[in-house]
Amino acid sequence: MKIKFIGVGSAFTTSEYYQSNMLISAANGKHLLLDCGTDIRFSLSEGNIHNEHIDAVYISHLHSDHIGGMEWMAFKSYFDPNRRRPRLFMENHLMHDMWNYSLKGGLGCIEGKGMHLTDYFDCKPADEQGDFLWENIRFSLVKMPHVITGYKNFYSYGLLIQDADKKGPAAFITTDTQFEPHLIDIISKKAEVVFHDCETASFKSIVHAHYDDLCTLPPELKKKMWLYHYQPHPAVQADHDGFAGFVKKGQEFVF
Ligand SMILES: [Zn+2]
Repeated sequence: MKIKFIGVGSAFTTSEYYQSNMLISAANGKHLLLDCGTDIRFSLSEGNIHNEHIDAVYISHLHSDHIGGMEWMAFKSYFDPNRRRPRLFMENHLMHDMWNYSLKGGLGCIEGKGMHLTDYFDCKPADEQGDFLWENIRFSLVKMPHVITGYKNFYSYGLLIQDADKKGPAAFITTDTQFEPHLIDIISKKAEVVFHDCETASFKSIVHAHYDDLCTLPPELKKKMWLYHYQPHPAVQADHDGFAGFVKKGQEFVF
């Protein structure tokens, strides 16, 4: 299994970094796209990956740096006569909300026909605390607090990823999360590598873990933690502060 970061930046990033979306490759060469943001046409093309190479998509939550490319993905796949529907994995309620509040306006009809999400994707909803199997890799959903309003809380579903036979190491990708030291401590015990989103701006948005807060984590945890989703040209050096480092755009990890 391979995890390639086709982007490592924040929602407002530049083409030097692209938005934080990843490509998971199975041993048989099939690709699963982990999040499909606004930049995806460009970040995929830079990695020499075309739409038809994508077998499946996983969506962590509904911000546009994670779903802004879904209309493109849906139409591009639908109107390709040789293309079968990509599989779509995501948390059950989130899938419903994505269609109703984000995608239906553009994808709800084509010439002469009303459409639904299932016309574009082979939908595979997952339980909130559940998991799914794709090409002999197990993905377990972990509910991460992202934007808390007190009225409607907005979660992102991180993924613990491991070969189904458990022979290889496990990796955890937080997707977008607030700083949650207790939760990260629990999950990190199940993963050899942790990819954590990280804000490096001079002010804290709270909705992402900030670098200064991540620095307070125990050294043994920081050692196996790679940081991504950072602002352009971070002024700090993550490896000097005890982390594995900042993930670079295009960097690939083999498990
Ligand atoms: Zn987000």
